[in-house]
Amino acid sequence: MPAITTTQRAASPTPSQNLQRELENILRQRQAATQELLEKLLQIPSTSGNERDLVVFISRWAKQNGFEADLFESSETQLSAYRQATLRHIPLAGRPTLVIKFPGRGLGRSLMFNAHSDVIAPGDAQRWAHGPWSGEIAEGRIYGRGACDVKGPLASALAALLALKNAYPQGLPGDVMVEIVPGEEDCVGLGTLTSYVRGYHPDGLIVLEPTEGQPRNASRSGVRFAIGLHGKAVHGTVKWLGTDAIVALRAVLEHLELMETEFAVLDPNELFAHYPIMRPITVDHIEGGNWQGATCDLAGCAGYLELLPADDVEVWKKRFQDRLCELQQKGKDSGCRLDIEFSEEYGGHELSKQHPLAQSALAAMTDSGLTANTMSWRGFNAGCEAGLRWGMDQTPTLVWGPGSLEQAHGVDEYVELKAVHEAALSFALCAIHWTTLPVK
Ligand SMILES: [Zn+2]
Repeated sequence: MPAITTTQRAASPTPSQNLQRELENILRQRQAATQELLEKLLQIPSTSGNERDLVVFISRWAKQNGFEADLFESSETQLSAYRQATLRHIPLAGRPTLVIKFPGRGLGRSLMFNAHSDVIAPGDAQRWAHGPWSGEIAEGRIYGRGACDVKGPLASALAALLALKNAYPQGLPGDVMVEIVPGEEDCVGLGTLTSYVRGYHPDGLIVLEPTEGQPRNASRSGVRFAIGLHGKAVHGTVKWLGTDAIVALRAVLEHLELMETEFAVLDPNELFAHYPIMRPITVDHIEGGNWQGATCDLAGCAGYLELLPADDVEVWKKRFQDRLCELQQKGKDSGCRLDIEFSEEYGGHELSKQHPLAQSALAAMTDSGLTANTMSWRGFNAGCEAGLRWGMDQTPTLVWGPGSLEQAHGVDEYVELKAVHEAALSFALCAIHWTTLPVK
């Protein structure tokens, strides 16, 4: 297939009406197999730290289907030169990374799809109508922890890779790869770093996350915080003699809400204007109290400060800290000592919507008859693996996948099977457009 520039593409949108029909046929014929693959992925409980069985399973799938599969483990020592590896995380031992490759003909740009292998814990399984590790299907939806975040999107990418291999036995002009990395839910970026250090530096990257099937050209940076409040325990009936960390914690939580409102108006980014909160501050954990009948001497909370792509994390950490210190200045800390610790940190990214990768995605959406005409570019409303390679190499990156963040991390997480199949076609078409562009 000849190289197509963006302008040529506009004049002649199809190198490939026949090819597209062929791809659609292949994907349609394989829908049952794709669905079965996704069921199996969902039945493997790959919580953070326990990703091995999942990637070994996918590695076997890849080899059975004739792909090159690089399954490797990285150690902290190998990665020690990089900041991401120094952040708190579950040790990497026993948590392999997998890269599946459909080699190209060395004539065009390479494309990597990135999926994280881990999922968060399902919580109380009794609360799920469809078991968290069941992969049950009902009314066109497939259920399970990770269904949309991100095993559904991963199944789309694997289906796309296989369809491309069948449609192009000689390979596309450039390589197409799928990397499956551990630990995104535990320490964003660390898993992708393992692949980066292994030597994978693709020309373009699609990070698989639930984006309602629409490509997103930006993602959030962010930081995890933990706030500790140290008081003094005394008998509850003489509590004026103690310092109550729970009272101080209440003031902290109120203050965080105010900060969220104030932070929204500082350097806003229009790609995130669609969302009700510009920079969410979400407390996901509180704890406190040692003895009954006493004032609390130790309480705390932890959560995420979600930022915008261009935000300097160090500047925002300082701002966050300074604003909390005001509690002490205003005497709202109840006399408690307040300490703040930051752990996980991740960078965001922002790709121009004019970039050929964004245009390749748009062309794929148009080709497949999806909603490219009505689509507006916006950021992905979370941190994800996009920031790592963007920060290192400015790798052109999109975040893209079936399913919605509204279902992610919740009880009865699901993804629509129709959306999984549609995304497979969009991914395959995007890979054709992008890999056909000549290497720079
Ligand atoms: Zn995710």
